[in-house]
Amino acid sequence: MADHRILLLGPPGAGKGTQATRLTAEYDLDHITTGDALRQNKEMETEYGTPGEYMDAGELVPDPVVNEIVVAALEDADGFVLDGYPRNLDQAEFLSEETDLDHVVFLDVPEDVLVERLTGRRVCDDCGATYHVEFDRPEEAGVCDECGGELVQREDDTEDTVRERLRVYRENTEPVVEHYREEGTLVEVSGEGAPDDVFERLRDVIEG
Ligand code: ADP
Ligand code: ADP
Ligand code: ZN
Repeated sequence: MADHRILLLGPPGAGKGTQATRLTAEYDLDHITTGDALRQNKEMETEYGTPGEYMDAGELVPDPVVNEIVVAALEDADGFVLDGYPRNLDQAEFLSEETDLDHVVFLDVPEDVLVERLTGRRVCDDCGATYHVEFDRPEEAGVCDECGGELVQREDDTEDTVRERLRVYRENTEPVVEHYREEGTLVEVSGEGAPDDVFERLRDVIEG
């Protein structure tokens, strides 16, 4: 079966990471996520400063830095789930020159739900697995089911930074969603309900 090249779009907290993890396991794909790659290089010196300076403020990291990450990841991948990129129209144009996509899926979740999901998100300090204090609890509070690592709150998952990230999303990334909608490639899927239910909807799209 041909590899799938899937783009997952959606606001912060829509469940892109959660669903990308399931999709990569189900279809044996690479998970390309600029957010994780940048978090691993938060202190890296670039001519624009460090990624962490932008991330902790909820702002976008400059395009040249993220474009370079995506190019390197695409080179190594056959099938992939791309999550967290493109976040503005320039990135979308850059991406279209680098690869074709088989599925462009938008995870639709209302804003009040997003704030609840983001402020309650906890991530494993060691392996990066994602949990939620209410919606996806680990077996033992504060401890990762996968690896026993410590669960922490991301520095940008505080209420103020979440609001700023949602503003940045509306300003920069909603036009990207609109671009794929006008192009006729966008498939919209509700991101509400249990993660298993959302995953079923995604499978229907991919196996169409
Ligand atoms: P979320 O999962 O909440 O959407 P991410 O982990 O994707 O958040 O991104 C965290 C931060 O990393 C963003 O707020 C931004 O600062 C930076 N970032 C991630 N992807 C990009 C990108 N494509 N362009 C610019 N900045 C990015
Ligand atoms: P994104 O990558 O789009 O920012 P995540 O996958 O990290 O989103 O999910 C954000 C938070 O919401 C996490 O704490 C996650 O456990 C939780 N979450 C993800 N999907 C759902 C869902 N369908 N219902 C409730 N909570 C969810
Ligand atoms: Zn872990």
